[in-house]
Amino acid sequence: MAHLVLSQLSVTVPVGIDSSLRTSSVFKSNNVRFGDKSWASLLSLDLKSRNAQLRNRYVVCMSVQQASRSKVAVKPLELEDAKEPPLNLYKPKEPYTATIVSVERIVGPKAPGETCHIVIDHDGNVPYWEGQSYGVIPPGENPKKPGSPHNVRLYSIASTRYGDSFNGKTTSLCVRRAVYYDPETGKEDPSKNGVCSNFLCNSKPGDKIRITGPSGKIMLLPEDDPNATHIMIATGTGVAPYRGYLRRMFMESIPNYKFGGLAWLFLGVANSDSLLYDDEFTKYLQDYPDHFRYDKALSREQKNKNGGKMYVQDKIEEYSDEIFKLLDGGAHIYFCGLKGMMPGIQETLKRVADQRGENWDQKLSQLKKNKQWHVEVY
Ligand code: FAD
Repeated sequence: MAHLVLSQLSVTVPVGIDSSLRTSSVFKSNNVRFGDKSWASLLSLDLKSRNAQLRNRYVVCMSVQQASRSKVAVKPLELEDAKEPPLNLYKPKEPYTATIVSVERIVGPKAPGETCHIVIDHDGNVPYWEGQSYGVIPPGENPKKPGSPHNVRLYSIASTRYGDSFNGKTTSLCVRRAVYYDPETGKEDPSKNGVCSNFLCNSKPGDKIRITGPSGKIMLLPEDDPNATHIMIATGTGVAPYRGYLRRMFMESIPNYKFGGLAWLFLGVANSDSLLYDDEFTKYLQDYPDHFRYDKALSREQKNKNGGKMYVQDKIEEYSDEIFKLLDGGAHIYFCGLKGMMPGIQETLKRVADQRGENWDQKLSQLKKNKQWHVEVY
């Protein structure tokens, strides 16, 4: 059961179940509004996506106005105790069998392709830190190695260590369904669709899923300075680790991490229907305008200053003075998403550096040396 532990006046709000919402985009639903400024509306919707066992339970929250900046209590707080992140607790030869809690399409009808938010119940047995990945072994046989299971596919974790139910028992992934279109006919060829992403997006609550990990240290959120600046660049599902960071910074009450710095998210997607977790991010903007910035690049809807498509690097260029100053001041910068994003971004950063009379190669190696530069692309 999820609790919002809040001070002063409290009221009990039933998490009603509107089954019509379950098949549509929970996060992009037009029914989601932020006028009430409370986590109750977001969380009640969020909780609607939990499995049927959670139905008809209650979220305790206080009055709408008072709840505007309250944070959600999480447990178990022992998940804060470890000095090092958990790593490879489960390996491909002995994966952990977890259970699917929910699968929700989270893009609107005009998004090209499908992206799903998938919640997995690991019952607290596969702990992880924000920014790590899980491996998934899809069912079936590896066509290249008959008799052997499929290779592991990695997915960035899109929740905090407490999961979307705030109890440390679940993990969320943000998965784009890999679909193959024949280049000649333009028609979909299901025999060549991605194995694991389709398995995940087609799975149903209660289905079993073999997971490995957690893995990865590159995208861990550095927490030594709670007032640091974090510039987060994402294309598409690359937003996954940042959703975890931002929930930890702005949504959850973490006794030993009171974020007072600046988190700046640049998100590149095709169009507004393709935006991911936009309601959560919009709420942080409303509640923490001094600590959160959010810029979107919608390649099929917006034009850059040269009249071309607006990509994330065009947004970086637009704010390059500020970004360079923040980097000089020790900001962390993160890149996550499709591999193809990096060449355009690197080119832009180099051009900006040249214009500023700086040597990009030297600056980049300094950023890497200082551990300010974090890249995870796939
Ligand atoms: P596969 O079955 O591996 O196929 C790969 C591609 O080949 C597909 O596009 C498929 O359509 C195409 N294909 C298949 N057969 C043929 C054929 N005969 N001819 C031509 N093409 C063919 N993905 C996410 O969605 N979200 C994440 O958060 C995420 N995080 C990641 C983090 C890391 C660190 C890494 C390394 C990867 C991450 N990925 C993520 C990518 C993910 O691991 C998978 O690579 C992706 O889901 C595709 O896997 P699949 O099994 O669906 O496709």
